Amino acid sequence: MKEIVKDVMTCRRCRLHKYRKNPVPGEGGFKRKIMIIGEAPGRREDELGRPFVGKAGELLDQLLKGIGLSREDVYITNVVKCRPPNNRDPKDDEIEACRPFLERQLAVLKPKLILCLGRFSARVMAEMLGGNFHGMTRDHGKAVATKNGPILFFTYHPAAALYRKQLLEDLQRDFEKLKQEIERLE
Ligand code: URA
Repeated sequence: MKEIVKDVMTCRRCRLHKYRKNPVPGEGGFKRKIMIIGEAPGRREDELGRPFVGKAGELLDQLLKGIGLSREDVYITNVVKCRPPNNRDPKDDEIEACRPFLERQLAVLKPKLILCLGRFSARVMAEMLGGNFHGMTRDHGKAVATKNGPILFFTYHPAAALYRKQLLEDLQRDFEKLKQEIERLE
């Protein structure tokens, strides 16, 4: 993992390296074999070089705490490791350029379960691992087996739920299901 982090820190494979203050490789514990994959760093993450440390991160911490998990229990990273300017969506070629890092992280971590936050993460991971994802409205709260190993669990991105009460309730319910799925696996 140290090598992967080093390679992310010096990466210039796509245009995003021109805008970043700091790349955000990912962080957390490996023991429980649970991985969380978001979309891309935001402003605060770019400033600190750490994943989910802004408002969406505060909500994620609360949701994790609610099901008895701490940051040390999970490894958190993103589909793209550098902040897109003005927090725009990551482009397909940026996701493609960053994909080898995610593949290497999966190979090192060998997660049992991957929590995909938001549609970008869900789409990329389903494609990478050979699982089905049709869209968040239909598939949130679902655990899906993949051809290549880990279970994928889909839910909304916490940033989307910050100002939408309905999504927040869905997210909380999904985390309860996630808890059951982790208990089942462990
Ligand atoms: N949103 C993400 O998708 N990832 C982060 O690291 C922070 C906010």
